[in-house]
Amino acid sequence: MAKDFLANGSLGTFLEELAPFGALHGPTLTEDGVPAFAPIASPSDLRLDYRRTLIPPKKYLFPPRTPLLEFAPECGYRLPAIASEEITLFGLHPCDLSAIAYLDRVFIEDRPDPLYQARRNALTLVGLSCKPDEFCFCGELGCDAPVGFDIFLQRVEGGFHLRPGRRRGETIIAGLSSLSEGAETSAPQSREAEVSGRIRNAAKRQETFPESPLWDDFAARCLSCGACSLCCPTCYCLDIREYGSLDGRSAARIQEWDNCLFKSHGEIAGGYNFRKTRQERFRYRFVHKYLGFGPLRGVVSCVGCGRCREVCPVRIDLMELFPKEG
Ligand code: SF4
Ligand code: SF4
Repeated sequence: MAKDFLANGSLGTFLEELAPFGALHGPTLTEDGVPAFAPIASPSDLRLDYRRTLIPPKKYLFPPRTPLLEFAPECGYRLPAIASEEITLFGLHPCDLSAIAYLDRVFIEDRPDPLYQARRNALTLVGLSCKPDEFCFCGELGCDAPVGFDIFLQRVEGGFHLRPGRRRGETIIAGLSSLSEGAETSAPQSREAEVSGRIRNAAKRQETFPESPLWDDFAARCLSCGACSLCCPTCYCLDIREYGSLDGRSAARIQEWDNCLFKSHGEIAGGYNFRKTRQERFRYRFVHKYLGFGPLRGVVSCVGCGRCREVCPVRIDLMELFPKEG
């Protein structure tokens, strides 16, 4: 029988054995009690029962601020170094794994971004099964079965059942001494809930719900705070700005997170705005989530993590767009 069982008592040894593969990061609680992916100094830092972090793991691949170009008179223009720190990101739930798989499609398959690619190559993904709460709907979207991981830990009685994903996972598992033989378990399957079919049918029809009264209702309530987009694991709006020093002797071009709910997002030189009204901005974000655009047209990019449902101060819920088909 294969050695693929990690007893609860061996978790500390397992984490030590992961150390050579990169700095260990995982779900922790900040001083303010907010769940966050952060470096792990000891196993007791881990919060394995977390539901979701406020800021998703996209921060490791697509940081809030990324220098693209620097200038100083003594060295001219300089590109930033591409090397990335090796990190083992532990405890990713299936929805966040699906979100990383989506970002890979955007930043590797669609338009290869060397900075994203370098960070992605340096990341080892260790998934962890979870229990949904009232905000989650990954099962409704078919994102409750893990994808794209190196190793996945499925909770079972007394510990975890380990599964390798990519080849890196097989190599890591082969060298572990913390595993023992466990009972056979079947791989978790997606529940593919009925509402998932409704969303996918709408995407297939390229449905944009042009007549839905919900847009006006949502736009009247939305505060344009941008929290739903900020915490979304698949939102990747960005802006590129140039900052000069006050003495005029150096400058940097920085890529920063942007937010399509902000009025400034659709504004161009001369003051024209592609999406002046809140209704337009709101609809743009949600249609992008469920319909996609460009080469990813038809790909649903919401993974049902529930973050936007939890943080929205006025409780706007996208799922209202997908009522039962009569
Ligand atoms: S739209 Fe909301 S539920 Fe869907 S992936 Fe983004 S934050 Fe999660
Ligand atoms: S979190 Fe809610 S209120 Fe804030 S921008 Fe998103 S939908 Fe609007």
